[in-house]
Amino acid sequence: MRTRTGSIGLRTISAAFAMLLQAWICAPALAEPLASATAATLAGDQYRTSFQLELSAGVTAEIYTLANPYRVIVDLPDVQFRLPDGTGQDGRGLVRTFRYGLFAEGKGRVVLDTTGPVRIERAAMTAAPQGESIVFSFDIVTTDPASFGLGTGSGKAAAENAPKAPPPVEPPTNAPKQSGKPVIMIDPGHGGIDAGAISTSNLFEKDVVLAVAKELGRQLAAAGRYDVRMTRASDVFISLDQRLNLSMTHGVDLFISLHADSLAEQNVAQTIRGATIYTLSERASDEQARRMAEKENASDLLAGLNAADGQGDDEVKSILFDLMKRETANFSSDFSNVLVRKLKSATTLSRAPQRAAAFKVLKQTHAPSVLIELGYLSNPEDEKLLNSPAWHKQIAASITAAIDTYFAKRRTAGSPRP
Ligand SMILES: [Zn+2]
Repeated sequence: MRTRTGSIGLRTISAAFAMLLQAWICAPALAEPLASATAATLAGDQYRTSFQLELSAGVTAEIYTLANPYRVIVDLPDVQFRLPDGTGQDGRGLVRTFRYGLFAEGKGRVVLDTTGPVRIERAAMTAAPQGESIVFSFDIVTTDPASFGLGTGSGKAAAENAPKAPPPVEPPTNAPKQSGKPVIMIDPGHGGIDAGAISTSNLFEKDVVLAVAKELGRQLAAAGRYDVRMTRASDVFISLDQRLNLSMTHGVDLFISLHADSLAEQNVAQTIRGATIYTLSERASDEQARRMAEKENASDLLAGLNAADGQGDDEVKSILFDLMKRETANFSSDFSNVLVRKLKSATTLSRAPQRAAAFKVLKQTHAPSVLIELGYLSNPEDEKLLNSPAWHKQIAASITAAIDTYFAKRRTAGSPRP
């Protein structure tokens, strides 16, 4: 019996047309299973590099390339990634590194960072020689920048792949607005395909910040004084624009983005630690803050969105931003001042705990917002804390205390909303 088990859509920017390959192979007639990916490997050299993904079942895959920086994007349906720890962190041939994960609800993605412009060849979905698994594979070969970019519609490719609407988010995010209570939006950074920083023992920033966000959400909800929303409550990718849109549509009164930093430089990675609070500024307070913002703003690129995506929106936003920033900026720095005092009692702070830079997720015209780097995953002591549920409770309690103080002050000042 022949059952359709998968297909591959191949889209390269230089070709500017879509090619559809279909793989028909024998498989038992079971109810359609959710495919899981169990291994991902690279082979080859700097002229031709092969990528292989072992799947429990055939799926419909789409492959295409993006520039700035050069990447190969593989879009898959609901694939469960069960790959060994560390998969993708070491490159080979034309691939520097690759990452994988949920890009949106029901949509998996693999992003390969390549050393330069590449072309995709020999894409196939075949039954493994032994066993029941399906091997999805393709080769990438070098090409020159001109033929990579010719023709192209690179923006179109990315736009088609950006999730159209914010993915469904779990309660309490979707709950109707509780009148009278300040709306607090907690924004755990990264998620899904974008792991954020990764510690040497494979602790992911996306998991740490989600755990702290959930604890903070629980404590704020328990206080009963706030209407608590979250930009994500599961391991899913949310673009920076979607985070901004969520904040806007939910009429947020305070937006708190949670992150954890990591330093690559071996000489300082062991010693530098502590929490830092960032507020928005077009001009960075210092070089470290500038690099931090650059790193966090790259989230969309890491997840395979095009660099050109949303740039028009950005212009509009920056106009609004100029009109509104003075008021919200004052509220943001008020909150940052309260926060630094409260965090001091709960954890170690970095050398300069209040900094500013042009974080895209803080470009909010309607609500005061801060971004907290909870600590450094590259520092062994910080890493221990970041992985400790007891510390999560402690840090969430001090953020809650800061929120209490901030809103109590705002009420006294007779201005419950900016
Ligand atoms: Zn981050």
